[in-house]
Amino acid sequence: MAKIPISIKDGTVIDESQELIVGIDLGTTNSLVAYAIDNVPKVIKHHGESALVPSIIHFDESNNIIVGESAKEKLISFPERTIYSAKRLMGKSYNDLESFKSQMAYRIIETNEEELVKVAVGNKYYTPIELSSEILKALKARVEKELKRSVSKAVITVPAYFNDAQRQATRDAGRLAGLEVMRIVNEPTAASLAYGLGTDSETEKTIAVYDLGGGTFDISILTLQDGIFEVLSTNGDTFLGGDDFDATIVEHWMSEYTGSLNINDKSILQELRIKAEEAKKHLGTNDSFKSSISNISIELDKSTFESLIDPLVKKTLSACESALKDAQLSKEAIDEVIMVGGSTRVPLVKESVSNLFGQEVNDKINPDEVVALGAAVQADILAGNQKGILLLDITPLSLGIETMGGLMDVIIPRNSKVPNKASRQYTTSVDGQANLKITVFQGERDLVEHNRKLGEFILKGIPPMPAGLPKVDVSFMLDADGVLVVNAKELRSETETSLQIKSQYGISEEEMAKMLLDSISNAESDMKSRALLEARNEGNSMLKSLEKFLRDNQSWLTEEQKSMIQDHHTNLKDLLSASDKDAILTKIEDINKYTEPLANEAFTRIVKKELAK
Ligand code: ADP
Ligand code: MG
Repeated sequence: MAKIPISIKDGTVIDESQELIVGIDLGTTNSLVAYAIDNVPKVIKHHGESALVPSIIHFDESNNIIVGESAKEKLISFPERTIYSAKRLMGKSYNDLESFKSQMAYRIIETNEEELVKVAVGNKYYTPIELSSEILKALKARVEKELKRSVSKAVITVPAYFNDAQRQATRDAGRLAGLEVMRIVNEPTAASLAYGLGTDSETEKTIAVYDLGGGTFDISILTLQDGIFEVLSTNGDTFLGGDDFDATIVEHWMSEYTGSLNINDKSILQELRIKAEEAKKHLGTNDSFKSSISNISIELDKSTFESLIDPLVKKTLSACESALKDAQLSKEAIDEVIMVGGSTRVPLVKESVSNLFGQEVNDKINPDEVVALGAAVQADILAGNQKGILLLDITPLSLGIETMGGLMDVIIPRNSKVPNKASRQYTTSVDGQANLKITVFQGERDLVEHNRKLGEFILKGIPPMPAGLPKVDVSFMLDADGVLVVNAKELRSETETSLQIKSQYGISEEEMAKMLLDSISNAESDMKSRALLEARNEGNSMLKSLEKFLRDNQSWLTEEQKSMIQDHHTNLKDLLSASDKDAILTKIEDINKYTEPLANEAFTRIVKKELAK
């Protein structure tokens, strides 16, 4: 019997026969979702609205969650309940954030410094994974509403420099949002795909992807051919973007209008920031900007704006030069320069980049949509809708094992294609050595202590042989999903052990289930409030029994006993309106002690009465 899926919401028939995988750009400032129909990628936007969803999460007083534009509106009025730039926290420990902490308007929990950070909102804690998952949930809801069908698979983009922990965190966020993450793709790779670059089997191309967003700048040099994208180098500044353009304008206005503007007024400051962004955008196509803030007219002309941001733009250019140098390429070797990120709409940025590379830059596709569009292309390919194209990822960091003296021995070098398999032979260092410990690390440093440990295992049962004679083959197999399987085999004896590595920062299935039910971070506070509720319930039923006891036993209770019971009742009632669980429980115990003999007496009286009948 054929099953026809029908949308419960509006009764439409859903064609889920065709696999749909969406593409998601999970950005620091803005996020968006796209999908491909008939091989053409398209962003999701609701009637005339922008496709961009600000990557901002607001928690209201009752911890309801708002994401996007309406959360952005709360940024100034509720700074400690409104979380922005959660992407900066992904896969980071408290220590990693040393420099960033002071700039945040929200609270980061000071825990074990090696542990992953958590953000405090009210009396609850949220991991960056949970925060990002809220953004992903909002995007999922958006695309589901638009397409009138459920969506459960996605390709999500990350910066090319994201390490394994950050990629894993992104994957976990997707899973927590109810999305199976089919692939994590580098943002510059996605941008190239949106331009249709890299799927040609004939020619190899070298391209530069210049990405200037709201708070970050990335330059990546890639080579592409026949579905293989290789990141030759990346550079940039994780604290440089369009928001800094706005800040220079605000500073300029503050010094320009010192006399007339009350810059100590928080709302004026906020208004200045909004106007600054407006001015910046306006000056992309106009020579001057005029407006007013609380009856004071403000203005900015294009040349002043350009002189304000010039030092920032120059910084990005020197990062481009470093990236070229790292890739050992001259400017002439770059076939194509792609512009990504909302801030590349600024004409000075475009001109400067074009001058540096000595060629026209490519900005035909909306720079703030291009990454999501590319992710949708990748998704379409994975769904099997674009035949003959196979895309391969690149490992961001080297994988290897520890050898003598704590040295890192790389087995799969960084920038290798994924999936990948490589192996190397080792031997023992002591006569008759029966066991060999294999410790797997990820990173670029020479000493393993500076790299990230992924796991370890012991190859046991090597037959006794003189040192140096056993041949131990250690092989690394990295699958398309980035899961690493390490296998060690002593070739003479065929003794074999293997280990499947999940990133240290990854979340176990068990933990994930717990998070899905409720968040791990809230478990403690949840437990506390549950205990209080239970104590209150118990207290309330105690109040009722006291009342009933008084009513039923009026006739024989002494005045003193009655007033004692009444006092207990009043005291307990007062405690129930407070929040001290232990005080409630102690009081209940007291009452039980006091009433026990009375209850016995009441019972005896009832029995006697019954017998007398
Ligand atoms: P991210 O990748 O960091 O999430 P986006 O690519 O969405 O960010 O870029 C956001 C930045 O782009 C903001 O600083 C915004 O002000 C800026 N921006 C958007 N449109 C324009 C424009 N027309 N002119 C100048 N800057 C713009
Ligand atoms: Mg971006």
